Amino acid sequence: MDTKQTFVIIGAGIAGAKAAEALRTEGFSGRIVLLGQEPVLPYERPPLSTDYLQGKSEKAKIYVHPKPWYVGHDVELRTSTTVTAINPSGHRVSLAVGEPGCYDKMLLATGASPRLLSVPGADRHRVYYLRRIEDCEQLKFAFTTASRVVIVGAGWSVLEVAAAARAAVLEVTVLERGELLLLHVLGREAAELFTALHRAHGVDLRLGARVAQITGDDPRQATGVELDDGWPYRRGPGRGRHRCPAQHLLGQSCGSGTEQRSHGR
Ligand SMILES: Cc1cc2nc3c(=O)[nH]c(=O)nc-3n(C[C@H](O)[C@H](O)[C@H](O)COP(=O)(O)OP(=O)(O)OC[C@H]3O[C@@H](n4cnc5c(N)ncnc54)[C@H](O)[C@@H]3O)c2cc1C
Repeated sequence: MDTKQTFVIIGAGIAGAKAAEALRTEGFSGRIVLLGQEPVLPYERPPLSTDYLQGKSEKAKIYVHPKPWYVGHDVELRTSTTVTAINPSGHRVSLAVGEPGCYDKMLLATGASPRLLSVPGADRHRVYYLRRIEDCEQLKFAFTTASRVVIVGAGWSVLEVAAAARAAVLEVTVLERGELLLLHVLGREAAELFTALHRAHGVDLRLGARVAQITGDDPRQATGVELDDGWPYRRGPGRGRHRCPAQHLLGQSCGSGTEQRSHGR
């Protein structure tokens, strides 16, 4: 019965790729079509803030499966393919480019995307988010050209990026709204230790900091962050606010800063 069925998986991240694997392992013998917006094989994101960011891991190692696996398991992987609409009653998906497709069963595994910083200047050049492999490549390059980075938000992955930036011998400022790092996750005692650890590693950590705007003399380029709270740090003209100069800025891209769509953390 399965052989006549088409199972379409929308989203070629780890959930989509593992779902395709599970279907084959469980004996589904119909057609599996895995549709992914990104131009690369499905990959795992945790190395983007650790080993891969630090150049300690090759791209091939972050893939969920090597390319031949999809051929060997008869999974039609279509990269650079964006699904623009789903018609559940007609069992059809529309694509940004190309003909619509039909399905018998469909899995939505479109993950998460960064919640963008909503302050003036956040769209300036040199403000980065970290979600996709190409974001990581840009960041890697930025680490080779910058001497200073400001990181907005302090979730787990972002702190891994702070550690990677320190390892790349950059000056790192982390702006965190809370009173301690990861307080709601770790509890006070562990959060105090964790906060002290990052400071001991040379991270300039500003707690209770709220970003008012991203600044720069050239309206297209970000070179600083203006804070809107009482942090007692002043550098540069601040019009009553506080400023952190930066060559590169990183917006928080996961944890509480992420719009959730499926299994995304
Ligand atoms: C830097 C970083 C570090 C992380 N570290 C950890 C960690 O240490 N531990 C942990 O548990 N989690 C970590 N996470 C979170 C973890 O990566 C996510 O939970 C996981 O990626 C979710 O997998 P997913 O397949 O559900 O979604 P995603 O990985 O987001 O994949 C969804 C895919 O669907 C595609 N897509 C979206 N919309 C469409 C569409 N309309 N058409 C076609 N394709 C579409 C997207 O392009 C994407 O490729 C980290 C995340 C990041 C960014």
